Amino acid sequence: MQNQQVTNPPSAAYYLTLIGGILGIILGIFLIVVLVGIWLIVANVLMIMYAQKLMAEPKEHSKYGTYILILSILGGINLLCLIGGILAMTYQPMPPFQPTQPHQHQTPAQPTEYGPATTKYCPQCGNPVGGEAQYCPKCGTKLPQ
Ligand SMILES: [Zn+2]
Repeated sequence: MQNQQVTNPPSAAYYLTLIGGILGIILGIFLIVVLVGIWLIVANVLMIMYAQKLMAEPKEHSKYGTYILILSILGGINLLCLIGGILAMTYQPMPPFQPTQPHQHQTPAQPTEYGPATTKYCPQCGNPVGGEAQYCPKCGTKLPQ
């Protein structure tokens, strides 16, 4: 056992460290509160943002609803936003009224008024091509012979 007796105890260092530590803990608690406050603001701003994105892109409702749901829980169990997120996730987007002939890509051409029976149609783009053609002149797809 070493003799710890000293004539000049490091009281200055001790008290400075003690006071500094206490102040640091108090500051830490204060900062935690502030950061939680900041986080709450950020979470709620994000939720409003995602709610606006939800309105702008209703078909992405599952994604934005999930975000809002997660943020509402992380942001202090915000019940209104929680319900909003669940509603966004379960929301069923109604497509706008479709005209009788919706525009479709790569619709195979109807083999109607294109003349001789030797006329073929490109399987890729539906372009009518001559019977001798090996490649579609429109899209370049190799044609089955
Ligand atoms: Zn083609």
